[in-house]
Amino acid sequence: MKILILLGAPGAGKGTVAQYLAENYDVCHFSTGNLLRNEVKKESDIGLKVKDILGSGGLVGDDIVNGIVAKNIEEVLGTGSLVVLDGYPRTKNQAIELDGMMAGSLKNEIRVLELDVDSEVVVRRISQRRVCSSCGKTYGPQDKIEVCACGGELIKRKDDEESVVRDRLKKYEAETRPVSDYYVDRLVKVSGEGKPEEVTQRVDETLAKFGIKKRR
Ligand SMILES: [Zn+2]
Repeated sequence: MKILILLGAPGAGKGTVAQYLAENYDVCHFSTGNLLRNEVKKESDIGLKVKDILGSGGLVGDDIVNGIVAKNIEEVLGTGSLVVLDGYPRTKNQAIELDGMMAGSLKNEIRVLELDVDSEVVVRRISQRRVCSSCGKTYGPQDKIEVCACGGELIKRKDDEESVVRDRLKKYEAETRPVSDYYVDRLVKVSGEGKPEEVTQRVDETLAKFGIKKRR
């Protein structure tokens, strides 16, 4: 296995798991958001196109996202690192495209780890979340403070209100359920409930089954 796709609803803890993998495994982490921002910063042909689309409030289409992933994934696969894909594929079409990009038997090297969290748990998690208005650090209900370590004010984002969260979950379900169905033979579900260290322990056990060892 060389490519690990992280799936999970908003609030399922994908960000935490991605960070844990980056710190404890020999991985190259791909977030499509970051890849897009990089291209914009480099002012590459694709980057300029993306900048126009985002500037006019549009959504970056599958063709562009696929192109950027294809370009970057090839560079990394040669290095032997585990490639972690986060936020991609987001649709079944992208999943089919990704298989198409993989030469030969490489698509058999794809494994999918889906963080499974009850939607009520997600709603509770996100609606209790506060974000620093200055540095963007996220705080949960266990953080009994009013001011960020950096001195910034903690605010509740509009996006984190319960009705908005429920809408995002519905959208995620409609868009991404077909992705996990598509990968049924290559997918493992891991419960994302409980403390972060309980979740990462489950992730370790799953990766061990895939033959992936932690970095020493
Ligand atoms: Zn802060």
